[in-house]
Formats: sequence, C-alpha cells, structure tokens
Amino acid sequence: MGLREVGFYLRGRVNNGVARLLNARRAAPVVPLSLEDLLRQPRLSLLDRVRLFEGRDNAERQAMVARYLAARDLPFARHLYATFEGSGESFAVEVGAGEATLILIGHHDAVPGSPGANDNASAVAILMVLAERLLQDPPRRIRARLLFTGGEEVGYLGARCYVKTAALDGVVGVLSLELCGIGDALVVWDVAEPFDQAPLVQAFAGTLEGLGYRRDESYHLVGRIPVFGSDHRAFWEKGIPAFGLTVVPRAEAEPLRQFVLNPWRGAFRQLVRRPPPFHTYHTAGDRSETLQPGALELTTEALFALVHSL
Ligand SMILES: [Zn+2]
Repeated sequence: MGLREVGFYLRGRVNNGVARLLNARRAAPVVPLSLEDLLRQPRLSLLDRVRLFEGRDNAERQAMVARYLAARDLPFARHLYATFEGSGESFAVEVGAGEATLILIGHHDAVPGSPGANDNASAVAILMVLAERLLQDPPRRIRARLLFTGGEEVGYLGARCYVKTAALDGVVGVLSLELCGIGDALVVWDVAEPFDQAPLVQAFAGTLEGLGYRRDESYHLVGRIPVFGSDHRAFWEKGIPAFGLTVVPRAEAEPLRQFVLNPWRGAFRQLVRRPPPFHTYHTAGDRSETLQPGALELTTEALFALVHSL
C-alpha cells in the first residue's frame, strides 16, 4: 500500500463517518421498489429505476445492478476488487464497434444514512436506460462502455482498482455522472489542463449546441473543482481525458459557482443554505421525491446523442 492509498482511505473514512453522524436522525423510512415490481410495470421510468436503489445498503445496491442487468438480458462483465480499503464489484456493459472507446460511469454506492437517490442512483438509472437503448441502436464508429462502479464514496476505490487492471487501450475519454437528477442545465467539470481542449469536450459541446443548448446558460464547462471529485479522476492518472457530468438548476448557477469553487470560505453560511442540487447531497433527504424526471431524461438524451455523434 502506498501513501496515496492511505490518504484516500482516511478521506473515505472521514467522509463516511461525517455522513453517518449527520444522518443519524432519520426522516421517514424510504421504501425501495422491488425488481419484480419494477419489471411488472408496462413502462419502466427512469425515476422507478432510481427507486430500485434508494434506501438500500451498499451490498444490496451492488447486487441490484447485477440483478437488473441480468433480468434485462444486458450482457455485462464483472470487475471484482479487494484491498485493505475495502472490496466490491464494478460492472461494465460494452456496446458498439470500432477502435475508440468512450467510458460513461455511474457509481452504485452511497454514503451511510443517505438514501442515495441523486447521489448516485440517478446516474445508475441513466446508464441502465442508455445500455438498453444503445444495444438496440448501437454506435458503429465507437464503443461505449457503461461502467457501474463501487466504492466511489471511499475515495473512488472501485475506479482506482479498475484502471489498474482493465483494458484501457483506445479509451478516448471518460465522463463520470454525478447528481444528474435535479435541474435543467448540464455541467461538464474538471475541464482543465492538459485536457481542457480534449476532443471529447469539444464533441460534447457540439452535441449540446446541436440539441439547442447554449453555453453558460443551459450548459457549462467548468474547470477543476476543489474538494468534490468523482471516479473520472482515477483515469486522469492514466493520461485519459476524464470529466465529471452533473445537472444543476439554471437559476442556481451563480450560487453554485461560489459554493463549489470556494467551499471553505463562508462554510457556515453554506451549511445554512446549500444551493440545489447540494441541498440533499450526502443527507437523509436525498430521496427520489426530490428528483425531477426531466433532469434524468435530458441527461439520457444528451449522452445518447453524444455517443452517436462520435
Ligand atoms: Zn457521488
């Protein structure tokens, strides 16, 4: 084990410890949807897929990803990991053809005491729908790998283990979906040197413009975000352009900019009012009722269009 791993481990422990303390006073219990009940519905919504996960512990969330993929006949590979930091499983669905690969990530774990609807069942639900749509209508010039990771909340453990052993030849870029269930504007973040001009960023901006989005209004490209992070950062270490993707309410753009770029300054004020979508982040209030189906849908549509544009 290296010093870096110890750092990730300690940060993960503190992260989870704080969440456990803050979430000790529980709100009304969350009742997750069963897979059987979901599959019985005539039309499976994105929000109902979120409800498969919310309120379950991390072992159940992980098992649910595999159960869902199997039940929907989506072929997937398993990536087991076990270190002193923890153990678990990530799952990958790959579709399309060609030399180049785009990786889209959604972590399936949540912090203790949080139902984990927006962080990050929202991303898992979006990737599940994308997997189904792309298998029916696969891209011909690129492969899309939809990766459901474990251990993100303990310092991107699943992603760090994944990049050590997985085949990464031809990976042209990575987007890690985080909090994609509230709002109407897309934010691509960690758009920073040396990858600030990466073809993936340009392609995504072009795709969004083609869908009618406007820069700095309905989509934003944001630089390196301090404090917050996600699985994509494990891919930076491998020299792969990798970014976060989050949905936010347009009306909150300025408070959000201040919140994420200066998280320590005015920390007390931020505890009183954290702008959406951070008002529920890592709390017992991160429930599916707070999500907006339109946010889940616009992210799915944008990523579907992106994959087909590459
Ligand atoms: Zn997350």
